[in-house]
Amino acid sequence: MVFCRDVRVVNKDIQDAEGRPVEFVFRATDEDIAKAPADQKRFSDFVFACTRGAMQVEWTTKVIDDTLRQEATGKGWFLQPKALGAQLDKPFADWGDGQVDLMAFLCRAAVAPDRAPLKVTAAGVAWTKWWFKGAKTLTVTGASLDLLIHEWLHHIFDSTLQETEGLTLAIMHASGDLGYGKTDLGWPSYVAHYRDRLRYYYPRDMWLRWSMKEKHDTPRGPFSDKPYAWADVKDDCWFRLPQLSVADLARLTGLEGLAVDAPKGKGYTLFKPGAGAELTSPRIAAIDDGEAALNNGLNWKRESTAVLRTPTGHWLFVKPDLVDVYVDMRKLRGESERPLPVYGWLLEGVKPLIIVKAPDDLPVPSNERSYFASSQ
Ligand SMILES: [Zn+2]
Repeated sequence: MVFCRDVRVVNKDIQDAEGRPVEFVFRATDEDIAKAPADQKRFSDFVFACTRGAMQVEWTTKVIDDTLRQEATGKGWFLQPKALGAQLDKPFADWGDGQVDLMAFLCRAAVAPDRAPLKVTAAGVAWTKWWFKGAKTLTVTGASLDLLIHEWLHHIFDSTLQETEGLTLAIMHASGDLGYGKTDLGWPSYVAHYRDRLRYYYPRDMWLRWSMKEKHDTPRGPFSDKPYAWADVKDDCWFRLPQLSVADLARLTGLEGLAVDAPKGKGYTLFKPGAGAELTSPRIAAIDDGEAALNNGLNWKRESTAVLRTPTGHWLFVKPDLVDVYVDMRKLRGESERPLPVYGWLLEGVKPLIIVKAPDDLPVPSNERSYFASSQ
């Protein structure tokens, strides 16, 4: 973590009441520096737990005492390490390339002398395209878990995943699309979302080969109607399972006119079976915020799965964090120890879903919970 004692950002486009350019002042105080290790440990413990021990984060500290000056334009008012340019040469003269993977620059928004106080008290930016000393960078106004992990996950999901794995899965600001709210489970600012990101959207084996820069070229198999055991593929599911196109899914389900509606910015996935489709599961034509019935629509905020029961099978489209539970449906029903097979995954909009096949002979129950009710 890089603590900047005194940063002055002058933006000629933002003026005070007297028409003078506002100088935005940021500071890392002794108190910020003293308090940071506890927050860093919280971050490291959270990442270690959510990645099941695959990812260990170690922190190192650099304090920049010099005053740093930065010019900004437009709406820019925030510390941007790249804009500091040569001013960083001296503080980092003793640092080698690749010494760390990521640099978190920290300074708190302070009151500018003779100017209006800044309204911003907590903010961050991930500078996903800029490398410095072989590291990516981010800026935060505090070392809190939610700020740090939010900006770090921007790198993971919006930049590093694309650069190293050639995959765009679910962009970081898709929390609403994926059904998460700000204070889920009583945690602050989307921390439940971040937990599931680390745990299910970036599964264990991806963390084990994780790097900020090396390309992995992990092979991805084509779709071939083959069932997989979830236990064999779950730790690297986006690579060990085939990704299905809508055309593949039409073939798998036997629904020739199938379409999938999952627009970005909306928290739903609606499977449209097409006119005349042979469907023995409930069907809706549109989905609203309160929708929670078992059918061809998945409301990501209130449900875990959509269902299409067709002549080729009883197909479920399950959110990544619930697949562990769904594949054990028959075990929980007291019918069989054998888990349900999975067939691949689908990515429409920014919402990935795992395709699970439920027992062909099981009628679609009245609600999701009934999938797990005893058959006795
Ligand atoms: Zn963000």
